[in-house]
Amino acid sequence: MAGRNHLYIPGPTNVPVEIMSAMNVVMEDHRSPIFPNLLKPILQDLKKVFRTETGQAFYFPATGTAGWEIALTNTLNPGDKVLIYRFGQFSHLWAQMCKRLGLNVEVHEVTWGLGIPVDKLEARLKEDTQHEIKAVLATHNETATGVTSKIGDVRKAMDAAGHPALLFVDGVSSIASLDFRMDEWGVDGAISGSQKGFMLPAGAAILAFSQKALKATETATFPRCFLDLTDQMNNNKDGYTPYTPSIPMLYGLRKSLDMLLAEGMDNVYARHFRLAEGVRKAIAAWGLTLCAQPGFESNTVSAVVVPADKDARDVISIAFKKYNLSLGGGLSELAGKVFRIGHMGDMNDVSLLGALAGVEMAMLDAGIDIKPGSGVAAAIEYYRSTAA
Ligand code: PLP
Repeated sequence: MAGRNHLYIPGPTNVPVEIMSAMNVVMEDHRSPIFPNLLKPILQDLKKVFRTETGQAFYFPATGTAGWEIALTNTLNPGDKVLIYRFGQFSHLWAQMCKRLGLNVEVHEVTWGLGIPVDKLEARLKEDTQHEIKAVLATHNETATGVTSKIGDVRKAMDAAGHPALLFVDGVSSIASLDFRMDEWGVDGAISGSQKGFMLPAGAAILAFSQKALKATETATFPRCFLDLTDQMNNNKDGYTPYTPSIPMLYGLRKSLDMLLAEGMDNVYARHFRLAEGVRKAIAAWGLTLCAQPGFESNTVSAVVVPADKDARDVISIAFKKYNLSLGGGLSELAGKVFRIGHMGDMNDVSLLGALAGVEMAMLDAGIDIKPGSGVAAAIEYYRSTAA
């Protein structure tokens, strides 16, 4: 098919031409005396994206899933109790990982479409007078449902309960796109991946740890090797890595940081809000709803609920086969019920309007009763009235 594929899944996201060009490099010696000139500033600048001055940033040749494992195994002991709220496929998978690793997992079920219930969290932590819960695991942006939880409120609940548990945050689909304040929110382990807001291919787990979490690595008894933070720290202090890094990925990350920091993180967040808001106007104009309940809407991904007698898989399939538009599917219990529009990373008004037009065509072909052009018109109106 002529023309390019239009990628509107919530990761991997579109890689800007500037980053692709920056990654097109010859290989170099990662033990050379000049390699630290590349790595050290990257690790420093990552802290600006995580918004931490007191924490330490890390780059692992892995993915977000490994980021979960790095946080757990470097700070906890087998059998430790962790608390997690399950409200989508990614919080589910994180809880499953905890079980498989031999942690004592306290899973609280939350209706998919809602986020972390901070009042309940506070009450539960107050009950835990013996401080058996060693870590609270919070999925900041549940990519499966398009739900964003308020991590600042999670921290307030933990403080109100006077609970010393570590706070680990899955920011895979939020960090570098949504407001994230590691120090202010007292996050002990912030986990991200390269293929979302960082606008890179998949293949890097990007993390930051607080001093409290780094201290915990000294006593954590989980066996670990490839994902050991101590090995990273020992090598990173001189600007090196414990094993061979992906040279193109590091040059891409350098460019990604340059682009994000030149735009300014507050402007990045504002851009994601504005683009998401246009999508939400379109969804409302179609007469459809989000999976996310009011107050939990994500600015990086919208999960759109199709009418009960329709199958969202048809929309996704038609969009791909007929219009060369890639949309995200409904995961697990949402299969067939929602399709997801990813609006994170390298996006602007016109690119998103193209996606919305494609979604309209696919929905009409799938027999969903919407007025052609209605969503696009609503988004146009919003983008025009709010354009700089
Ligand atoms: N957490 C969230 C919120 C995600 O969206 C994803 C992937 O989409 C993951 C974790 C897993 O990341 P990865 O696929 O990079 O291992």
